[in-house]
Amino acid sequence: VNESEEALLQAIRRVLSEPSPNVVLGPGDDAAVLSAGSGDLLLTTDALVEDVHFSRRWITARELGAKAINVSVSDIAAMAGSPRAAVCALALPAELDAAWAMQLLGGMREACGEHGLALVGGNLAAGPCVQIVVTVLGEVAPGRAVPRSGARAGNRVVVTGDLGGSAAGLRLARGSGALDAEGREAVARHLRPRARVGEGAILARHGATAMIDVSDGLAVDLTRVCDAAGVGVRLRLADVPLGPAAEIADALAGGEDYELVATMPDDGAVDAARAELRETFGVPLTAIGEIVDEGRSVIDAAGLERPLEPAGWDHFA
Ligand SMILES: [Mg+2]
Repeated sequence: VNESEEALLQAIRRVLSEPSPNVVLGPGDDAAVLSAGSGDLLLTTDALVEDVHFSRRWITARELGAKAINVSVSDIAAMAGSPRAAVCALALPAELDAAWAMQLLGGMREACGEHGLALVGGNLAAGPCVQIVVTVLGEVAPGRAVPRSGARAGNRVVVTGDLGGSAAGLRLARGSGALDAEGREAVARHLRPRARVGEGAILARHGATAMIDVSDGLAVDLTRVCDAAGVGVRLRLADVPLGPAAEIADALAGGEDYELVATMPDDGAVDAARAELRETFGVPLTAIGEIVDEGRSVIDAAGLERPLEPAGWDHFA
């Protein structure tokens, strides 16, 4: 970073500090002070590491900052909670332009504003590459967090929005070809995901028994739900809603869609949640399968049943 660390820290504090109802003492002290709230607290953290999770060649600093916040907020959404506050630990290479760091913080603040959480502090260190660790504190009504472990045989499996667009977008962003409108939409899914906070609350209110956000692909994340509950699943591939430019392999193994997968008690709950999601957010909810006692399988487009494998979906490409 070109400027002295202290100058950058002061600039960062100017970007961060904004009064918020939950914040008793914001950035700039040894620790932030937050009012405790009345619900159960949720705490989650995620790291984005340059050339592992992103490349500065195809994501802007502002997009990266917003994505770092949304990725962590998505985990709060998947518990049916509301995000309250975030801290960020940044490692930046010495040669990085200070303006890039400020745009990163600007993107973080923008995303925090959209989700109504306060960015209350952070830490800055020199590092060999850009590393962004965002920790988010959230809140949920006492006893109402939706865990992964609640899925039961007979539950319907549903997903918000569509899947695979992010993986398709990454593939297109890495390529050199000109993009059509669908391609640009796919790239946007990858660069600018938005955590489904309000959607998670609606699914919980309609009785979601388990929930997870799709960070590693439907096959892996659905397997996690099954493992947590000791149950099986039958997934109908033809019903999986595909994002722009996406193929079924992108949905199953791509990841980074940050949609919510939930298990619902019955068709009535699915219909009620679908109606409210459409009305409130214009977001579709699609039933894609059922929880069963044991065995994880997919029904392919030809009606053939085969094992759901958490990885290795190339043969569907
Ligand atoms: Mg998650």
